[in-house]
Amino acid sequence: MKKISARLAAVRAEMADAARRAGRRPEDVRLVAVTKTHPPAVVAAAVAAGVTAIGENYLQEADEKFTALGWPDAGGGAPAARHFIGHLQANKARKAARWFEYIETVDSAALAARLDRLAEEQGRRLDILLQINISGEDEKSGISPHNVEGVLATLAKLAHIQVRGLMTIGRFVPDPEAARAEFRALRELRDALRAVAPPTVELEELSMGMSHDFAVAIEEGATIVRVGSRLFGPRHG
Ligand SMILES: *Cc1c(COP(=O)(O)O)cnc(C)c1O
Repeated sequence: MKKISARLAAVRAEMADAARRAGRRPEDVRLVAVTKTHPPAVVAAAVAAGVTAIGENYLQEADEKFTALGWPDAGGGAPAARHFIGHLQANKARKAARWFEYIETVDSAALAARLDRLAEEQGRRLDILLQINISGEDEKSGISPHNVEGVLATLAKLAHIQVRGLMTIGRFVPDPEAARAEFRALRELRDALRAVAPPTVELEELSMGMSHDFAVAIEEGATIVRVGSRLFGPRHG
């Protein structure tokens, strides 16, 4: 618990420094604490330490964890905002819409349409980010930068999802500077899309940067960073 508090303070201080270096306000960057593979007690400790948003990758795990914690379904006032950051298969969309306020990994118009229907059934609105394959690696999921404008046009008509911005998973390279060009490319894509996106689409958010490169991501415009191991130590399993 003390360890989590100390690590959280260190990460927040580095986030604030990075924001100031870029002439940005520290309060404009949100921390999503990634708790995947860690037990419910760690999630509870993180929230007690002041974490306001958590990220999970696996729906079965999230299902068990939120049930164990006694957290209500999404939209019901859990003690932290829940971001889904894993790969989302269509047949798991119902579970995702049940437990998460924010789905960061929407990688097709079809998936967005399905989430829209599920959110409508639940009588609420779901925040989403479009996952972009900015590095162009074949094995990575995400919408190609060339296709995102067309996807946005179809999403604008969906009343139960709100597009908030873009997300990317940077190429894993040990040197954080090596990721800078990709982070910058995502911001430039966002800026270009703003000029052409339908008015109901919001493009404020840029979710990019993880434990080893969040400072560089913030310098390049990240509004959401997803940090796991720096807060909770190495993952097992
Ligand atoms: C696991 C994960 C993270 C956190 O990674 P760390 O390197 O532990 O900070 C962030 N984003 C996504 C999409 C992840 O899967």
